[in-house]
Amino acid sequence: MKVKENPLKDLMVYAGNHKYIILLGRVLAAASALVAMIPYYQIWKIIRIAVDGKNLDAIKGIAWQAVAITITGMLLYIFSLLCTHISAFRVQANMRISLMNKIIKLPLGVFDSEGTGKIRRIVNDSTEATETFIAHNIPDKAVASATPVGLIALMLIFDWRLGLLCMIPIAIGFVIIMGMMGKNMQEKMAEYQGALETMSNEGVEYVRGIPVVKTFGQTVFTFKRFKNAIDNYANWASDYTVMLRPKMVKFIVSINAVFVAVICASYAFSLYGVTPKLIQNVMYYIIISPLLTLTMTKLAYSGEQEMIVVDALQRVNSILKMEALSNYDGKKSGTDKNDISIENVTFRYDGAKNDAVHNLNIRIESGKHVALVGPSGGGKTTTAELIARFFDVTSGSIKIGGVNVKEFSQEELMKKVSFVFQDSKLLKTSVLENVRLSRPDATEEEVTQALINAQCEDILQKLPDGINTVIGTKGVYLSGGEMQRISIARSFLKNSPIIILDEATAFADPDNENKVQTAFEKLAAGKTVIMIAHRLSTVLGADEIFVLKNGECVENGTHSELVSKNGLYAKMWKDYEKSVEWKVGA
Ligand code: ADP
Ligand code: MG
Repeated sequence: MKVKENPLKDLMVYAGNHKYIILLGRVLAAASALVAMIPYYQIWKIIRIAVDGKNLDAIKGIAWQAVAITITGMLLYIFSLLCTHISAFRVQANMRISLMNKIIKLPLGVFDSEGTGKIRRIVNDSTEATETFIAHNIPDKAVASATPVGLIALMLIFDWRLGLLCMIPIAIGFVIIMGMMGKNMQEKMAEYQGALETMSNEGVEYVRGIPVVKTFGQTVFTFKRFKNAIDNYANWASDYTVMLRPKMVKFIVSINAVFVAVICASYAFSLYGVTPKLIQNVMYYIIISPLLTLTMTKLAYSGEQEMIVVDALQRVNSILKMEALSNYDGKKSGTDKNDISIENVTFRYDGAKNDAVHNLNIRIESGKHVALVGPSGGGKTTTAELIARFFDVTSGSIKIGGVNVKEFSQEELMKKVSFVFQDSKLLKTSVLENVRLSRPDATEEEVTQALINAQCEDILQKLPDGINTVIGTKGVYLSGGEMQRISIARSFLKNSPIIILDEATAFADPDNENKVQTAFEKLAAGKTVIMIAHRLSTVLGADEIFVLKNGECVENGTHSELVSKNGLYAKMWKDYEKSVEWKVGA
């Protein structure tokens, strides 16, 4: 969907039947603006009576009429706001629903490459911008377009010469404001949002990095990028202000020049003799002029809001137009077999210069345990993620039991494959619910058994409320290895036939490591397992080891075969043995 000039049209896509309510809101707002102008006629009549000095008693009645009409105008405006607010929340909700429907179908890898912070900002903040726009700017705009019509009438009815003169500065202001709302400004607004976003992302990174900075005794200035982001934003904001200043000054001066026009004109007219009628009209125009200024100011700011919305819509669309996984809801085309074959697979990340995986061929028989090893950046994680379809391969194919992973429905594939990462994430909820994520219909007994299998008994005993303890609450502290074991319990509960372990023991402390290792061995029994490890001791017993370097498989075989080959693996093994000796010796 292309963003057109008029954001309202794009928003209507999300409005459904509420578009009629929005229309009603606009009509009511316009009506309220016109009704609100009627009392100026009463004011004019009151001034006339006052200047004449006769029939003063009539003023009271006329004033009450004005009050009644004003209240009617206000009520109309309130009803208009009611309409637009109801619709605004509906549009916002629908936008969020569309986004979530899309997000759920996106390849999982997108959340790493796009940054979850950015996605969160779009789902939350960008949709919120449209809410303000519909709830307040749409009625304001209706008022702003109806008001000039009423105003021109009011200005010309009583003294067209004075009225015309008053309108000159306003016309100039109008031209200036139109000049300010060009394409240039639209770009500026996008830059502004971009700078904000960078600053917020860098801020998150900065806070995340604080432990590292403290550990290494670095000063805050290590985080140059965060400081640069703030500086950039500040520079941008001041440049922007300086750029707008001359135009803004001209605009404010011209719209306020109405008063000068009234005074000069009245003086000029008074040279032809001061009549009661002239006094009456001058007073009237002095009272009505601020209304012109106010209307113009409103118009100026509504333009700004509109640009924010256009930008917000572009951000929302950037997610909506991402390519979803094909066949997400796919028909049942599963298989009972669990062998994996990676055939001529090449994958390149969006915008990357080189393939992360290049022409890879790996066959894993059902029930075998294989290991992927190799230098960092060699493509191990990428390969594992391609099997679980975090991304779709650029070319080649990945099959499980002879069926292309693209033909599995997402649900089936997730049932088939279980992934344990290096840093497992637990949610801020009970241990029970955390484990149950992998199979929501599991009973408490099943969850407990999974936790026992994952060697978590000591954790459960330690926690104040056992399995019902909420993780992340005050006083509940779990080490990396403990969190890892709880996340292994998830895999036990899910009991999928294929298990992928990505450097899953890397962060465990020695005390936890044995338990984690035991848990993995139990979990792996009878399953097809792909294990990525940098501690080579853990891969010794693998049925086959694949050595990946620069996205290609350079060697494969069992541990002893590879050691005798004297290639990359043999060298890695020597280095590893040396490091272990070194540790033991130390
Ligand atoms: P390994 O797990 O063997 O250390 P990876 O599979 O993580 O290697 O990375 C393989 C290559 O792909 C590396 O060059 C890495 O920089 C690149 N890469 C990894 N993740 C991304 C990503 N999200 N976007 C772009 N490039 C990536
Ligand atoms: Mg990796």
